[in-house]
Parts: sequence; structure tokens; C-alpha cells
Amino acid sequence: MTALPVSSGSGSHSVFPPPANHTCFQCGRSFARVYILRRHEAAHRGQYPFWCKICGKGCLSTNNLRRHLATHTGARDHQCKWCSQKFTCPWSLKRHMRNFHQDKA
Ligand SMILES: [Zn+2]
Ligand SMILES: [Zn+2]
Ligand SMILES: [Zn+2]
Repeated sequence: MTALPVSSGSGSHSVFPPPANHTCFQCGRSFARVYILRRHEAAHRGQYPFWCKICGKGCLSTNNLRRHLATHTGARDHQCKWCSQKFTCPWSLKRHMRNFHQDKA
């Protein structure tokens, strides 16, 4: 008897590329990666009014979003007060202070 459906065995390379666009059914925005859409949907559930269009993370305010976007654009907001060198994050500034200025206060 051959009533059971056999799905395996006829060619193992049936892996097709995922579609380029993943559209949010709530607001119609589309994202290139499904995990970005997932995060974006989570932002809807959390009712964040703003969200990052790069990674889909939700933010509560434009200020919040702008600060988050800086992590993508590599904006350097942390400046050394001794030599005016700029850093993307506070800990690299801290490390710089320790290495170059012996963390003088
Ligand atoms: Zn949406
Ligand atoms: Zn982001
Ligand atoms: Zn410095």
C-alpha cells in the first residue's frame, strides 16, 4: 500500500531564497529581513510611537529614537575633554581616558 504521502527523497535542494520584502500588516511598511519585521511588530504591540527603520526597534520618543539611530550611524557623541577626540560610546571614551590621560579628574 502506498497511501502515505512521501515528501522526502525527491531532490534535497528545494531551499528557495526568502522573499525580499516582509510587510507589516498593521501599517504597511516593508522590511528586508523577517527578524526586523518581527521586532517592528513587537514595537506595535508595545505601542511605541516611533521605531527604527534600520532594525525595527521601537522608541518612546524622537529623542530616544535619535539616540538609538546614532548607534547605527556611528555618531560620535562622547568627546574627550582633554584632547577633544570623539568616541561612539561612553566606555571607549572611558578607556581612552584611562590609557591616554591616566583618568585624571
Ligand atoms: Zn507596522
Ligand atoms: Zn535600530
Ligand atoms: Zn583624550
